[in-house]
Amino acid sequence: MLDFLGDLRRTHMCGGLRASDAGKKAVLMGWVNRRRDLGNLIFIDLRDRTGVTQVVCNKEMNPAIHEKAGQLRNEYVVAALGTVKQRDPNTVNKNIPTGEVELVAEELRILNEAKQPPFLPGDTVLPNEELRLKYRYIDLRREAMQFNIELRHKVAIAIRTYLAAQGFFEVETPFMTRSTPEGARDYLVPSRVQPGCFYALPQSPQLFKQILMISGFDKYFQIVRCFRDEDLRADRQPEFTQIDLEMSYPQAERVWEVVEGFLGAAFKAAGIEIKPPFPRMTYDEAIRKYGSDKPDMRLPEMTEVRETFAPENLATLGVSATLPVMAIRIPKVGELSRKERDDIKPLFTAKGGSKLFEDFKRLEKNFPEAASTIRQETGAQPDDLIVIVSGDSKPAEHKSAGGVKPEVKQHDHAVYTAAGLLRIALAQKYADRHGAFKKTGNPEKDFRFLWVTDFPMFEWDEEGKRWAAAHHPFTSPHERDMDKLESDPGAVRALAYDVVLNGTELGSGSIRIHRQDIQRKIFHALGMTEDEARARFGFFLEALEYGTPPHGGIALGLDRIVMILAGAESLREVIPFPKTARAVDLMVDAPTPVSEAQLKELGIQVRKG
Ligand code: ASP
Repeated sequence: MLDFLGDLRRTHMCGGLRASDAGKKAVLMGWVNRRRDLGNLIFIDLRDRTGVTQVVCNKEMNPAIHEKAGQLRNEYVVAALGTVKQRDPNTVNKNIPTGEVELVAEELRILNEAKQPPFLPGDTVLPNEELRLKYRYIDLRREAMQFNIELRHKVAIAIRTYLAAQGFFEVETPFMTRSTPEGARDYLVPSRVQPGCFYALPQSPQLFKQILMISGFDKYFQIVRCFRDEDLRADRQPEFTQIDLEMSYPQAERVWEVVEGFLGAAFKAAGIEIKPPFPRMTYDEAIRKYGSDKPDMRLPEMTEVRETFAPENLATLGVSATLPVMAIRIPKVGELSRKERDDIKPLFTAKGGSKLFEDFKRLEKNFPEAASTIRQETGAQPDDLIVIVSGDSKPAEHKSAGGVKPEVKQHDHAVYTAAGLLRIALAQKYADRHGAFKKTGNPEKDFRFLWVTDFPMFEWDEEGKRWAAAHHPFTSPHERDMDKLESDPGAVRALAYDVVLNGTELGSGSIRIHRQDIQRKIFHALGMTEDEARARFGFFLEALEYGTPPHGGIALGLDRIVMILAGAESLREVIPFPKTARAVDLMVDAPTPVSEAQLKELGIQVRKG
């Protein structure tokens, strides 16, 4: 008997055999994907991560092997040695790359048996996600998951290679640290040696990367896990991976150039050529044109049409004469029935007293001139859907002293964002009709990147009744807005930017404050006393005093990038071992209670109820 297991150099991959291998000896190892018993012939589809090859066991040629093949079940791990044979033309399987050949088995070994799995990697109907996550190792054997994880690997390698070539060092920063400034809830780790003290898992390496600039590593990056204890939405995970970077002495444009470069490399790894530079738009413009700070540019922007109505028309319509009147156009939706128009209404959230006119035909009847101008100004074709969002003539009270709004006033902001949300909801509802979300194969159309710049420095926190950092408190305000820090915080703009793709925020960053006196002013503007600031970030404030170069950076979500490249619906499709929406790992069953002894050692008592 051949001892072929001892000679791994002769092992082939299950997806690698081709017609040109006919006549050669080959050794395949993998899982039984499927077994078909045709009496004298047993066919085994043997699978590894590269694909599937058909192995034939012929009773007449080799009764012993045929008998062994009869014992095989799904997901047994098997080694087969044999001769590659060209298949008869009428049995060629055109659907798989190895479909022209088969391996005629001369040796067969069962390397391991398998229990009948709760579902099979080859099943066409997916089981429910809970089962997939509980038996993740089976789920990961599926072709789609193998593809996603390989893609993730390729993307990460491409980014590393690109950044390393640009002179960036990958530097690790601690996981057991103290609270970082991203503003979500921390995951805490109790200290045994200092009972009652806790580490926090980093929400990002923000302060460490800034300290690395102070330490002289002028170009840093890290593909790094971050931890945020937030209420999970569909596209969030409690631990997620960022491509985090920081540079000394950059203008914002330099950071953008680096990001465009590594995204180019990442997309290329997925076979997609994108063309930087990405367009840029200020936050104000994004709000005015798209009602969103992450515009999806695959659909037309909104059009401000207030001027097309005479003041008395606005009054008749019960529309504010001072707030924006926005026309939303969704191409190719076609004429809507009355019922369809009714279906639109719940998609609209009348934020801050905004108003929806979903029946454009009726407007057309009552205000033919205005309607025809609106058609022209929006560039509408006859089968495009137009709806109008305006401010109510009696707008809601806005009690707060401000909001997310440099220049854009708060009431305006409410109308813009109500319109923006409706635009997206309509775009999703009628995706089949306008087809703008379908991939065309042209990357310039399929991947609409955008830099959104000049974000507001502060956001009004309605709950806390105070100003909060819109990005984080280490973000530098615009030089020209420094004098408004005290007098008009809502108008201060930051050197902060987001990179957006098809309406999704891929990442955020900023040029940082590098001077201690300015940092102190920002803390003050955020309502933090000197003592509070020292207690939270004292080590960092001190570091700023020891010769800090100007610096800036950004962080992008790797999971999301891979999700988009994979065309996946959820982050869980591209994270090998993700958590559920309740932050549970169903495979290892975490989190769990721990033993009394462990708690005691940590000086922790769990309160019941
Ligand atoms: N630390 C920031 C974040 O995680 C990114 C940055 O400002 O570089 O959002």
